[in-house]
Amino acid sequence: MNKFLLLILDIFFPNRCPICSSLINYDRSVCEGCLDKLKAFETDGMNLCDRCGKDNCICGDETSISRTVSLYVYSGEARKGIISLKGESKNFGYHIGKMLGEKIHSDEKLSKADLITAVPMSRKKRRSRGYDQAEVIAKAISEVTGIPYIKDLLHKHDSQTQHFLNAEQRRNNTDSFYADDKKDLSGKNIIICDDVITTGSTINKCARLLKNINAGEVYAASGTITLLKKE
Ligand SMILES: [Zn+2]
Repeated sequence: MNKFLLLILDIFFPNRCPICSSLINYDRSVCEGCLDKLKAFETDGMNLCDRCGKDNCICGDETSISRTVSLYVYSGEARKGIISLKGESKNFGYHIGKMLGEKIHSDEKLSKADLITAVPMSRKKRRSRGYDQAEVIAKAISEVTGIPYIKDLLHKHDSQTQHFLNAEQRRNNTDSFYADDKKDLSGKNIIICDDVITTGSTINKCARLLKNINAGEVYAASGTITLLKKE
């Protein structure tokens, strides 16, 4: 958006930190204090599986994802940020997208990906929220890396909210995803984004669907990730 327009918007709709709600400059997405606290949840330097991105992974050859990058452990300020992204503010999505974009940009393999897409949201949910949080992240990554964002590769039927399901039900519930089979990715390497990876079954199912329409490598980029073992 145009800077002047942002400034005008800022007067009528003051920009706030999505984590602590303090007022922030119109060109910021998180306040300095919260940025500092977020450092405690960074996944850098942690011993995570390269493919599925989890600690204590059991992915073996079961995953369709070649590589996962995540920014924060789903906890503390990072968790608050994700909750705000599912509620009222896109700011944490901009923050995550920018940071992931920088990470991808400096990675030899991921920076050469051909396209970026997002884990889809059902139409009903998108209508009620007004935006799709994974898409906010994907578009921000695209802006930083210059890798084009592609919409409508994957879709989701309206179904039960994942949150209320147990692990087994979640695995089955991912069947509500489907790929646009009129599209052919002809071996292109794709980055798929989401705000949080919990069991990993959702993003893995989406990766498999992308492979079904001839994606080459599929990489996962996630704002946050839940860990299996207690720290
Ligand atoms: Zn803050």
